[in-house]
Amino acid sequence: MKELDFTSFPPGTVTEYTTLVCLACIFDIFTKQIGLAPRSAYSEIKRYCPTVDELTSRTAVRPFFDSDEKHPRCPYCNAAKRWHARLDTYAIEGGKTTDAPRRKLVKSVEKKKDQFAVIEVKSDRRSAFFDWLDTLRISLDLNEQAWLLDATKAYLERKEPKQNWSEIFEGLQTVRPSSRLAEGGQRDSARLFLATPLYNECLLVQYLVSRSHEHGGRTLEGRLTLLELIRRMRNSGYLAAHSISTTDQFEIFEQLLDEVAGSGQLKVYHLVDRREFIDRVKSVYASYA
Ligand SMILES: [Zn+2]
Repeated sequence: MKELDFTSFPPGTVTEYTTLVCLACIFDIFTKQIGLAPRSAYSEIKRYCPTVDELTSRTAVRPFFDSDEKHPRCPYCNAAKRWHARLDTYAIEGGKTTDAPRRKLVKSVEKKKDQFAVIEVKSDRRSAFFDWLDTLRISLDLNEQAWLLDATKAYLERKEPKQNWSEIFEGLQTVRPSSRLAEGGQRDSARLFLATPLYNECLLVQYLVSRSHEHGGRTLEGRLTLLELIRRMRNSGYLAAHSISTTDQFEIFEQLLDEVAGSGQLKVYHLVDRREFIDRVKSVYASYA
C-alpha cells in the first residue's frame, strides 16, 4: 500500500493515530447482536466508518484495541492476527499553513472514496494544543536529558513554522535566553539563543510536558513549580507585555496557556485510511461465508 505523503505539511500540524480493529468481534456484533445475515453484515461492515473518538482515543474499547506485539490476539475474543485490521487516522489542524496541502491531499484520495474517509470536526486551538502536547509527550523519553531540546524544537516548529528548526538544532547542545534579541533565535556555535519571551514560552511547554512525570515540572532552568514559572514570566516583563494584569495564579496560568496554545475556533480534518480494513473485511468474509 502506498504511504500517504505529509511532507508538505508544517511539523506538528498532523497527528497520527493507529488502532487495531477486530473483525471477528465486528462480525459477531453485526450477526449475533444486530441479527444480520452474513451477506448483509458484510456490506454493512464494508461501509462502516468508526467515529473520531473511536479512532483517536488513548483507551480503546471493543472492537478496537492497541498492541505492539508482532502476533497479537484480540483481547475480547482471542481472534488471531488475520482477523485484525489496522486503521490509521491523520488529524490535520485546519489553518493558513495547512489548507493548501490538505486540499491537495484530499483531492488525491477522493477518487478512492471507499478507501479513505475525511471527517471534519469543530474544535478550538486550546484542545488542538493539548492533543499536540499529548502526542509530543508520548514521543519523548523523559528519562533522557535530550527531551528538553526535543520539546523546545517541537514548540518552535509549531510557533514559527517558516524557520528550518531541524537545521538550527543540528548538533546543538544548549538553548539560552538572550535579552539582546527582540524575537526569534540565533545560533552561536553549539548554542542557540532565543529572545527571552520565546525562551520563557519554551519553559512553559517543558513544564506542561513534564508536570505529570514523577519528578514533575522539569525545564531547561531545572525543576520549576508553577509559581516559580509565573514569577519568572513576571520579572522578565512577559506578563506586562501580554497585558496579563490579574494576580490570581490560576487566572494567570489560563492566560499564559492562551499565549502558547492560541485561542479561538479551529477545524480538525481527520483523514482515515481504510485500505487495510477493506482488504481484510473481504478476505475474512471469503473464509466466513
Ligand atoms: Zn475480537
